[in-house]
Amino acid sequence: MEIMKIEGLRVFAGKKEIVKGVSLSIKKGEVHVIMGQNGSGKSTLLNALAGHPKYSVEGKVEFEGKDLLSMKPHERARAGIFLAFQTPNEVSGVPLSSFLRQAYSACHGKEMSVAEFERLLEEKMSLIGMDKAFASRGVNEGFSGGEKKRSEILQLAVLQPKLALLDELDSGLDIEGLAKVMSALGKIRQKDASFIIVTHYARMLRGLQPDAVHVMKNGKIVASGKAELAYKLEERGYAWIGDYS
Ligand code: ADP
Ligand code: MG
Repeated sequence: MEIMKIEGLRVFAGKKEIVKGVSLSIKKGEVHVIMGQNGSGKSTLLNALAGHPKYSVEGKVEFEGKDLLSMKPHERARAGIFLAFQTPNEVSGVPLSSFLRQAYSACHGKEMSVAEFERLLEEKMSLIGMDKAFASRGVNEGFSGGEKKRSEILQLAVLQPKLALLDELDSGLDIEGLAKVMSALGKIRQKDASFIIVTHYARMLRGLQPDAVHVMKNGKIVASGKAELAYKLEERGYAWIGDYS
């Protein structure tokens, strides 16, 4: 069953067209990867799917059969879409645990008692190997690059979205940091959950077994294939793709 169906999606910032007609179909439980050079429109695509108010859109996107583009950002989150940012924001003064508890009730439409939530949080933190002390620190405040990314994974683990949009979870990480993030992602992955992952590195995908890899160029998907495509791209760059120059 399809969880998301994108047809001819165009995304504009003011008059500038950034995403120029993207069509993609994602089934429940599938992992899709989007690669492509900087500036090709990957982040804009994910932001538009999450409902970022900065962009206007044309085309059609269905999420579980519903018209996504007419939904407000919080309605999309409530419906089960989660966006992890390329550069996660700091929210100083708000402890990570309170932030996550609020996010949980916003996404699931139900409150959890503080004690109950603390238990859930502790379980997820230990699962992904994150020190408990982070729970009482301000959201991402003074977190290192790797710690910020792990706090995004923690959000993912707590919120358990149906579709996670992950924008360059690997950016700014050293090899060890990347391994930790990927192992955390592997541990929290639920078999019904779907992912769209933007990355520059095929090695990011080991263990995740993507169902499809797409290459974006200048606002369009110019190639799609299986996981091998990612490894080929890492080895040879983008130039060998006919449409890529
Ligand atoms: P990627 O994530 O693939 O590196 P982006 O989606 O961030 O690419 O950006 C694609 C292009 O759109 C870039 O040229 C970028 O400068 C431009 N762009 C993105 N957002 C805006 C905006 N709000 N206003 C104007 N241009 C934008
Ligand atoms: Mg980007």
